[in-house]
Amino acid sequence: MAVAYRYLWECSRFYRRKFEEAGLGPDSVHSVDDLPKIPLTHREEWLEDQEANPPWGTFSPLRDEDWLERGWMFFSTSGTTAKSPRVFRHTTFDRDIWGYLGARGLHSMGIRNGDLAILCFSYGTSVGFWSMHYALHHMGVPLISGGGANTERRAMFIQNYRPTVLMCTPSYVLYMGRKMEALGISPRESSIRLICASGEPGACVPATKKRVEELWGAEIHDHFGCTEVAMPPLGYPCSHLVKRKDKPVDSHLMEDVYIPEALDPQTYQPVPEGQPGVLVVSNLYSEAQPILRYVMGDWIAISTEPCECGRTHARAVGGLRGRNDKLIKIRGLLFFPAAIEDAIRSLPEVGDEFRVELDHVGDMDQVKVTIEPSPQTAEISDRERRAKVVEALKGTLGLRVDLEVVPYGSLPRSKFKSDRLTDRRPKLFNPHGE
Ligand SMILES: [Zn+2]
Repeated sequence: MAVAYRYLWECSRFYRRKFEEAGLGPDSVHSVDDLPKIPLTHREEWLEDQEANPPWGTFSPLRDEDWLERGWMFFSTSGTTAKSPRVFRHTTFDRDIWGYLGARGLHSMGIRNGDLAILCFSYGTSVGFWSMHYALHHMGVPLISGGGANTERRAMFIQNYRPTVLMCTPSYVLYMGRKMEALGISPRESSIRLICASGEPGACVPATKKRVEELWGAEIHDHFGCTEVAMPPLGYPCSHLVKRKDKPVDSHLMEDVYIPEALDPQTYQPVPEGQPGVLVVSNLYSEAQPILRYVMGDWIAISTEPCECGRTHARAVGGLRGRNDKLIKIRGLLFFPAAIEDAIRSLPEVGDEFRVELDHVGDMDQVKVTIEPSPQTAEISDRERRAKVVEALKGTLGLRVDLEVVPYGSLPRSKFKSDRLTDRRPKLFNPHGE
């Protein structure tokens, strides 16, 4: 704790400013007991800092020369312009720690040498599957990359090469299973024995967990973290409690490298143990992205009661319960409403007004976008416009959308962003009913 604080004091301009504004000095923090002195860091501060100090911001202690000497990889959140995504650079040191911590999580799920994994992710700039990828390397477990392959091809990989572990989002695992059934391949009869789901809740949502496990005849485990603060899994499902089929599964939190806190969302004071609060996390190990008291905003109830599995790390009772802010998650990707608006409006073929409707149909998120042609491009046919916009949104948002083009002027005009986005998907459990 003292080392992480001192490192930020000396090497992060962002944190030096924050610490000084809070009246702290270089020797103000000696142990975890001093944690409450440290100001919270909110997601918006990060964005503002990167916008004000492009392209990397002043947050990371990593200098350009460090990046060139021992940089590993560039990561970013979803977004469409240089301004909207938050970007991160990690080092080879961070990569090795990710691998080690990730391996600890996968081991606790029951993945071992002798397994073969297939990762059905896009292999883009998100952190989740890269941490799985390097965790498998660390364990010596071989893998098949499903990046760039469509569902039919991934199904063929499973049928022909018999991987035992499937890694993907909870939505996709259901979609893929149904698709395989339609192709005449039984997911239940397949070689997959364990599913590690990441990118969105689901594995810890009992109804989804049950549905997946019945469809695949395999156990599903939740692999959760946070792009900003907890890149490998922040926790790992309790190997004992994951067996229960009717209740949410607890996850153990890696308290030796992260400090999790559950705070009241209004006062940001600690809530009593076992009570729900919003999750605030400190990362004590990262070279490129150490961060203290970052407001992840997920609802969590933390228990330090002894666990039946014998592990001593504290537990997130029922796993993480969904975010408290306005971020929208579609098919495992995170979006700010402004990023969607930006993506749509950056296209010259699209008029000012649009609508986005989100539904959960079958087992997948469906995104319907309704647009009007821009008057400047009236000569383009609807067919051509549709193809261009769908392709462009796939590129910027990473989502394939159902697109409807309606005559110019027919959508109601609105001044409020919220009127343009309708989310009809069922809400996740949230103890405060928000
Ligand atoms: Zn346990």
